[in-house]
Amino acid sequence: MQIQDKQKFFRPYQWAVAVVGLPVILYSASNLQPARLDLGFALLALATVIVSSRIAIRIPGVNTHVTVSDTFIFLTLLLYGGHAAVLVAAAEGLCSSLRISRKPVTLCFNTSVMAISTCAAMWALYLCFGRLSELRLQGFSAVFAIVICLMGLLQYISNTGLVAIGLALKLGQPCWRTWREHYLWTSFSYFAGASSAGIIALMLGSTILYAALAIAPIIAIVYFTYRTYMNNVEASAAQAAQAKRHMQQLQESEERFRSAFDYAAIGMALVAPDGHWLEVNHSLCRIIGYSEEQLLTMTFQNLTHADDLTATQEHIGQLLAGKIPTCQMEKRYVHILGHPVWVNQSISLVRETDNSSSRLIFQIQDITDRKRAEERLVHDAFHDALTGLPNRALFMDHLQLATERAKRREDYHFAVLFMDLDRFKNINDGLGHMAGDQLLISIARRLEKCLRPGDTIARLGGDEFTILLEEISDVTEATLIANRMQQEMALPFNLAGHEVYMTVSIGVAPSMTGYTKPQDILRDADTAMYYAKSNGKARYEMFDQEMHAQAVDLLRLETDLRRAIDRQEFRLHYQPIVSLSTGRITGFEALVRWQHPERGFISPDRFISIAEETDMILPIGKWVLTEACRQMREWQEEYPAHETLSISVNLSCKQFRQPNLVEQVRQILLETGLDARSLKLEITESVVMENIETAIDMMKELRALGVRLSMDDFGTGYSSLSYLHRFPISALKIDRSFVSRMDGNNENKEIVRTIVMLARNLGMEVIAEGVEGETQLSQLTALGCEYGQGYFFSRPRKAEPAAALLADAQLNMLTPPAMRALDAPAPVAASEILLNLAAAGLESELTH
Ligand code: C2E
Ligand code: MG
Ligand code: MG
Repeated sequence: MQIQDKQKFFRPYQWAVAVVGLPVILYSASNLQPARLDLGFALLALATVIVSSRIAIRIPGVNTHVTVSDTFIFLTLLLYGGHAAVLVAAAEGLCSSLRISRKPVTLCFNTSVMAISTCAAMWALYLCFGRLSELRLQGFSAVFAIVICLMGLLQYISNTGLVAIGLALKLGQPCWRTWREHYLWTSFSYFAGASSAGIIALMLGSTILYAALAIAPIIAIVYFTYRTYMNNVEASAAQAAQAKRHMQQLQESEERFRSAFDYAAIGMALVAPDGHWLEVNHSLCRIIGYSEEQLLTMTFQNLTHADDLTATQEHIGQLLAGKIPTCQMEKRYVHILGHPVWVNQSISLVRETDNSSSRLIFQIQDITDRKRAEERLVHDAFHDALTGLPNRALFMDHLQLATERAKRREDYHFAVLFMDLDRFKNINDGLGHMAGDQLLISIARRLEKCLRPGDTIARLGGDEFTILLEEISDVTEATLIANRMQQEMALPFNLAGHEVYMTVSIGVAPSMTGYTKPQDILRDADTAMYYAKSNGKARYEMFDQEMHAQAVDLLRLETDLRRAIDRQEFRLHYQPIVSLSTGRITGFEALVRWQHPERGFISPDRFISIAEETDMILPIGKWVLTEACRQMREWQEEYPAHETLSISVNLSCKQFRQPNLVEQVRQILLETGLDARSLKLEITESVVMENIETAIDMMKELRALGVRLSMDDFGTGYSSLSYLHRFPISALKIDRSFVSRMDGNNENKEIVRTIVMLARNLGMEVIAEGVEGETQLSQLTALGCEYGQGYFFSRPRKAEPAAALLADAQLNMLTPPAMRALDAPAPVAASEILLNLAAAGLESELTH
């Protein structure tokens, strides 16, 4: 059976015993013969319930007590019969259980157990031997001795049996085991009780009993003295054991503390108020590198970093004076090897119990790594990782201080130099980024050599360096240093086995102009540098107010440009491209114009570069492409004779690099209804040469769409000659610088001739840009150039006047004699072309 199952029966068993006990008690009470009950019975009953259960004689050496209550119950049985004994036993059961519990069920159970067991013993003896009181009167006999033994045995078995069953159910244990463990030894108490009761009963009426009664007080005194003595012995034994335990605990705690101290992960020390180390642990020795023996001959002052000594002494002084309870500080000790060790040190004060002396407890944690990391972080936050020079943040900080100093001191002047490498991109592109980085580092080192102590040189990023010259007497001092820097830079650099020459452009902004904000002087130095660049590079420029005005103007232009699209301030002008063999207009180039509301017309040369820098070129370019395609489609529909007319649109670098360019073009063609073959996109060499393979892929995709591509300004930028055959390009546009200077310059003429030949060999068309005069026209025709574009034919015109050219040309086509001349096979004489164009209504353009 499971333990829980057994335990379920405990309560019902208790109640069952209690219920059985009740009739037993009632039965005994009803059969009691009041006549037999005398004072003696009353005393016995009283002694049983009050005294006997309280008196327990301890058997020394065994953890067992013998109560005397059983003696009284047995005595009652022998003297007054079984019923009286049952009642006395029930009373004893109730009283003794009242001392341990108030639970009704427990009280009833214990009362019933005593009543039942006594009743059982009574009946057994009665059935075997008749009335015991009569047997007693016969004096001691063998039968009496047997009765006494049986009385003890029966009472013992029935009493302990009932209780053992209850306990076994409660604990969920077997009954036999419970009985054996808890009650086997108690048989002694029952037999002792029964024997005592038998002896007393036999002696009743004899002098021995009265003598025994007379010495009862003495026995009581002896008993209580014995009990007190036993209690004292127990108490002192307990105290001794307690003291021993305490000592042991102290010893253990001391040992624990000692090992905690010795092997603590942080450094710990006991220090005398004068600073002598009294006790130190292993970690502390490890942190500062000294052995325990060495430390114990020294003071903490000997080992504290000189810069931290005063602060430490102050803290300890306050601690000793009782002004602060503890103190904590970050400080440096000097390691035995001489380097500083950063620690976090907590100090607390302990006073001896008699307040006679005090000690300091040091807890020392090595934080050198953290400090180093912090220093590194601070350094990194203010320095450039590549060159190790101060960065913008630190430079601005120094500049701020210089600006403030200049405000306070009239005689204090400083200057800011803004330096930018000329054509640094070429190094990066040509020799790779590693070489570029190497160059920047070498430049940083050279620049440092040019400076005086106290000056600050910083790398702002890329190839930009700034220098703050402090305490200069006048501007010439700054220009001298700028000169020196340029000379230093002029010396060759050795980069991965290549000898590289580098020039720099420097802008100088002196503080004499009166600056209140550091960013203003930096901005002006930058502007001056920009001027140095635009004035031919490899030079320095001193900042003046005029530059500032222009820089502001540029900035304003940039701001306005952002709004120009929404405000529809862009217009397209169209410049015809003319066939030199027929004199007919074969297409137009769309050229964007910005009609600024206040400044009027702004040339693309001025704003396209700004749009490029700010990415505004993307929306502008898209608008141009859409508008140009729409216009061309309109013209094609309006002038069916010019069905094959094409429109050329310029694409900037950023536009060409858009990954969705092809999709954008396809969409625009779809929207405007223009045939892809009527669209020519003009790109420059620099656009293609930036990333040749990607550019070729992009060009192929555009070609696949049906769009044609022209190489604009050919001959000026990168030399793409060796790649040209790989480019799917349909036309080369000879840059106007060659065309305009063809007269009298044989070299330019030869260039034009070469380009024409090249184009022919590669199966490309060739268009001469910037045809301004008749001589150029005839020369170009003689060289076999097929197409021309320039003021000679027409300046770029608005849509309407451009369309007028078409209308007139159409008219001319209707005029057979004139057109026949135009249609004549190439080459035609330049004068003829001029004639034809004049006939087409272009006289006005010729005057330009
Ligand atoms: P480009 O593509 O080489 O355009 C030809 C430039 O030469 C135009 O200047 C045109 O007016 C000018 N030109 C034409 N014939 C003659 C001539 O006989 N003599 C002289 N001296 N100049 C002539 P424009 O319109 O000022 O454009 C300048 C540059 O701006 C263009 O050079 C082109 O690179 C860029 N550009 C113009 N419109 C756009 C555009 O919509 N998008 C992009 N990305 N760039 C554009
Ligand atoms: Mg162009
Ligand atoms: Mg051009």
